[in-house]
Amino acid sequence: MPELPELEALVQAIASGVARAPVRDVPRAHFAVLKAAVPPLAALAGRTIDRTERRGKHLLFHAGDIALAVHLMTMGRIGYYPPSVTKRPRGAVLDVAFADGGALIGTEGGTRKSMRVGVYDAPGLQELIGHLGPEPLAEAFDPAALDAVLDHEGRQLNALLRDGRRLAGIGRAFADEILHEAQLSPFAHSQRLPADGRARLYAAIRAVLGRGVAECSERQGLVLPARNDGRLLRIHGRDGTPCPRCATTLAFIDFESNRIVYCPPCQTGGRVLADRRMSRLLR
Ligand SMILES: [Zn+2]
Repeated sequence: MPELPELEALVQAIASGVARAPVRDVPRAHFAVLKAAVPPLAALAGRTIDRTERRGKHLLFHAGDIALAVHLMTMGRIGYYPPSVTKRPRGAVLDVAFADGGALIGTEGGTRKSMRVGVYDAPGLQELIGHLGPEPLAEAFDPAALDAVLDHEGRQLNALLRDGRRLAGIGRAFADEILHEAQLSPFAHSQRLPADGRARLYAAIRAVLGRGVAECSERQGLVLPARNDGRLLRIHGRDGTPCPRCATTLAFIDFESNRIVYCPPCQTGGRVLADRRMSRLLR
């Protein structure tokens, strides 16, 4: 699944291209990926995309009072093809052609079409993304905003970071990365996190995601690569390998169908978390 930094870098890279000319005619979308019928795709024809943004893992292409929303799910990929690039991918499940010859094209890596595409008006958009928590890279997300997230309810940090209703777009992989950077236990209790832990968590969220966007901006072009950028992740999925900070073997715990990877010396005072019951005792 593409991660927040990959999507953010893509949005920044293609925003000016997709805005250069109006949508030429009715965009085409495979019926299996089209999730909203009203307004129809035809409503985009003739309109110009005036703002492109990422909200959580949704890509939003605003055109006046409606927006084309795309969620790539696991295997979906999308990219902008300028007029000069005549080689276009086969088997597009979304094809938005612009009057200048450019195109926004979505493809599926697998045989299953899980990508989600739709055109939404303001109430529809509210329903689609209104539940999302604050954007962790937004300017408005300051330490006080993180305090509000931590204090909203008592949660274990890993679960809280993965919950899009509390913080948008972080997910499993970056929850591991952020907590490792912050040197905090995945099972630390959000409301009981002391001030120094909160400061480290805030700094880690901004640093890890910001670094990820910068790295993707350098490596990615106008099209999301078919494979996720493995270099973004230093500990997630790397249990059994040395911690990049202290070289201790990274440990893991399978929890709520998610494998949480962590470094015992860096994050849990050297303790190895055995299971959920044990972790509750150790946090
Ligand atoms: Zn370590």
